[in-house]
Amino acid sequence: MQITTNFSMSEYVFTRRTEYIPANLKYAEANLPKVRELFRVPQILRNKYGRIRVGSGVRCPELNAVIPNASKKSQHVKLEAVDLEFLDANVWDAWEWLCWESGLQFGQAILEGDEHGKPTWLHYSLGTPYRAANRCNEKMDWRQDPDWESTRNGYTFHQTRPLWLDKMARRV
Ligand SMILES: [Zn+2]
Repeated sequence: MQITTNFSMSEYVFTRRTEYIPANLKYAEANLPKVRELFRVPQILRNKYGRIRVGSGVRCPELNAVIPNASKKSQHVKLEAVDLEFLDANVWDAWEWLCWESGLQFGQAILEGDEHGKPTWLHYSLGTPYRAANRCNEKMDWRQDPDWESTRNGYTFHQTRPLWLDKMARRV
């Protein structure tokens, strides 16, 4: 089934641990309104930037439990986050537009990847009411250069841990 025009349930629930796909599917189907809300903004990005591959989608509790170091609080577990790989556009462009030009609300927009300084996907998550208002519209890339924050058009970045290292250990 389709979640939105261009995003399907099968790509959302896919995991390399294929034995957990049925559980992922059951979990997502039981929470369909939230899943549709999750893909509202990605569809807007799809319309603007072309094809998007879903890297990491949902992690049902059973799947999350068998992943080493996986956070139980991850929005992926709560059907509130999705990793988006842009096949026809630069992920930086999409991230910048989402963060500063789109006017869209979100929880987090994080550039992530396997290699420091070379983001390959955008972690997008839902904001309120799923996430506390004071923790919404968080924009992060993975660099730790504190000067970088203040040079982005005067907007404040949330300084983060070296998130990219952390995420490598947590990927599905
Ligand atoms: Zn993610």
